[in-house]
Amino acid sequence: MPELPEVEVVRRGLARWVRGRTITGVEVLDPRSIRRHALGTEDFIGNLEHATVLDVVRRGKFLWMPLAMSGSPDPGLGTDGENLSKVALMAHLGMSGQLLMQDPGVADEKHLKVRIRLSPVADMPQQLRFVDQRIFGGLFVTSLVPTVDGGPGGLGETPLPEIAEEASHIARDPLDPFFSFDAFYRKVKGRKTGLKRALLDQSVISGIGNIYADEALWRARLHYAKATDTLRRADAERLVEAAKDVMNAALDAGGTSFDSLYVNVNGDSGYFARSLNAYGRAGEPCGRCESIGLRSIMKREQFMNRSSYTCPVCQPRPRNGRW
Ligand SMILES: [Zn+2]
Repeated sequence: MPELPEVEVVRRGLARWVRGRTITGVEVLDPRSIRRHALGTEDFIGNLEHATVLDVVRRGKFLWMPLAMSGSPDPGLGTDGENLSKVALMAHLGMSGQLLMQDPGVADEKHLKVRIRLSPVADMPQQLRFVDQRIFGGLFVTSLVPTVDGGPGGLGETPLPEIAEEASHIARDPLDPFFSFDAFYRKVKGRKTGLKRALLDQSVISGIGNIYADEALWRARLHYAKATDTLRRADAERLVEAAKDVMNAALDAGGTSFDSLYVNVNGDSGYFARSLNAYGRAGEPCGRCESIGLRSIMKREQFMNRSSYTCPVCQPRPRNGRW
């Protein structure tokens, strides 16, 4: 599965190429890739044709493009609540979904599922292609609803206080400028659970998967089973900062792909794997302990049908932990 930094790479790449462009045609080559659009292929195409892409927005791993429909007096950029976009094209990347910008002359990819033609702009590719080998991803048109806190729906170029319906229940992610530490801390303290479970709970904080949960906990020197109701504010602050840092480091490592026409997301691209300190490092020395002359070996434990990686020295097991 793509992690948040990979989805953010896609968002930035797409925003550069599709914002402000009008959809001139849509071709669904495999209806399975729009199966989440309940009203079918014809309705899907009807919603998109002649619509203008206003932005590319992300919250957690949800990615959507607010649309201004043809004939709107204002292309949706107003902030008075009257001219806001009401629908969006949602892209669900699944395991292997890719969004590619291509020129018409480029041969179709083997697993091309949906082709979206865009109004021509000089030096910009004219097609947005959805390619998906394993069909777990897909595209669909969804409604935008007002955000609960009145802030922007997520991270985008043009902040609008509305959010794709499917993402409206999830909390803001650590890279969102409107992320509220106080809201996060209140929710964490209110849960009677273990810290990693809380980090993976999208209603507490979104966009943190298993890899980044382990990395953030390691950086913050906290154990995954720490009882959330006993978490001190300073520890929570360190943890959120750690999550931000590790995701930003991954974005920096993946930065070279921003310039490519090939807006790619691929769960096993591994471009950020080099910077991991905890995840996947069972049996190796803890880098932090080693740097101060301590010897400690990272260990792996079963956790929620997956694995957790911790340093037994600098992330000590809590006495009254919650598993
Ligand atoms: Zn250590």
